[in-house]
Amino acid sequence: MTDWNALSDAEFRAEIRGFFEAEYPEELRHLSHRPKFAEIEHWHVKLHAKGWVAPAWPTEYGGMGLEAAKLLIYYEEQQRYGVNRGRDMGIQMVGPLIIKFGTQEQKDYWLPRILSCENIWCQGYSEPGAGSDLANLRTSAVIDGDDFVINGQKIWTTMAHDATHIFMLVRTNQNTERKQQGISFILAEMDQPGVEVRTITTLAGETEFCEVFFDDARTPRANLVGEIDKGWTMAKALLSFERIFIGNPGLAQNALAQLETFAKGRGAFDDAVFRDRFATVALDVEDHAALYSRFADQLKRGETLGADVSMLKIWVTETYQRITELMIEVAGPDGGTLGPLQVGNIGVDVLSSFYKARPSTIYGGANEIQRNILSKAVLGL
Ligand SMILES: Cc1cc2nc3c(=O)[nH]c(=O)nc-3n(C[C@H](O)[C@H](O)[C@H](O)COP(=O)(O)OP(=O)(O)OC[C@H]3O[C@@H](n4cnc5c(N)ncnc54)[C@H](O)[C@@H]3O)c2cc1C
Repeated sequence: MTDWNALSDAEFRAEIRGFFEAEYPEELRHLSHRPKFAEIEHWHVKLHAKGWVAPAWPTEYGGMGLEAAKLLIYYEEQQRYGVNRGRDMGIQMVGPLIIKFGTQEQKDYWLPRILSCENIWCQGYSEPGAGSDLANLRTSAVIDGDDFVINGQKIWTTMAHDATHIFMLVRTNQNTERKQQGISFILAEMDQPGVEVRTITTLAGETEFCEVFFDDARTPRANLVGEIDKGWTMAKALLSFERIFIGNPGLAQNALAQLETFAKGRGAFDDAVFRDRFATVALDVEDHAALYSRFADQLKRGETLGADVSMLKIWVTETYQRITELMIEVAGPDGGTLGPLQVGNIGVDVLSSFYKARPSTIYGGANEIQRNILSKAVLGL
């Protein structure tokens, strides 16, 4: 088995880039929607055969065992080539939790099924009234014999209509001092009589989110991960890498490249005011990338990131939004048209980029919440 960490960063990057460029299907590059599994299954099969589905997982569980520096390179290359992340909530979220807190039986049963995508996961955290203030969640799981009986509602559950399983935070104890206590982390099957999924159509006309209703749905007690009532600390424990990943420059860099192509095709660079505005966002992207490298270097040195990493997410998502707004302006009257706008022989999907940028300031911890973190933990306000 190759020890990827033994390669130099440049060698490793070349290896990843070579594989993506040779094998990733052209028609799936830079997808503007979240694909259902069937659409990307042929790519998943290739990635699985190569053993590259789970770059961050330890090799003993079928992952690549990448250290932080190599992991960042993997994700950078993925973004650069427009490789879709696939249906990766199993890989990114529930798998690492099972690896860290699950029993041996849970690891043996679930991990291979996550890697092969035999089980496709969705994340059931948010509820109406429990988003930023997640500990407010009310969906309950009550022990009944060998099962939990689940009642309540989740919302904004990405791709729940194309998932076989859901990992959820549920309330297992109503009588606790603090609302963060009494929350547990459980796994449940979607295909059962007590689970109803209703899709929500986004502004872009995609059905990407769902509401999920639980009405006496059941899951075996064996599907509790970690200790009962201790799910909160556990679910939070795994967010540290996510904090830099979500602030990586790829989003803004790709959008800037799109803006440049589109603006050139539309002759916008003839206008001095546009040139000035383009230079402003381009410099924001450069500055952000420099800051990102600083945090990435910290990770490479094995240091823990501080709360100041929240800056990255705020900066990249707001720059991303400004770039897509500028793209709409360049499009002029065509800016409201869904689908690719042709510049030469290249199609740029201006409106869908704009729509895609809107929720980026909300998911992964809303930017207002990130600002609260900075004000308290960094500035001491
Ligand atoms: C693209 C996308 C995918 C998602 N996928 C999933 C998923 O798969 N599973 C899942 O469980 N959830 C998912 N979510 C939900 C996401 O986690 C929540 O939207 C997020 O936590 C915000 O919660 P909310 O929508 O309830 O907004 P609220 O928390 O109600 O916030 C509304 C507004 O108030 C602001 N605000 C709230 N509290 C404060 C405060 N204390 N100080 C200052 N401002 C505040 C927020 O920043 C925001 O602007 C997804 C969301 C998006 C956009």
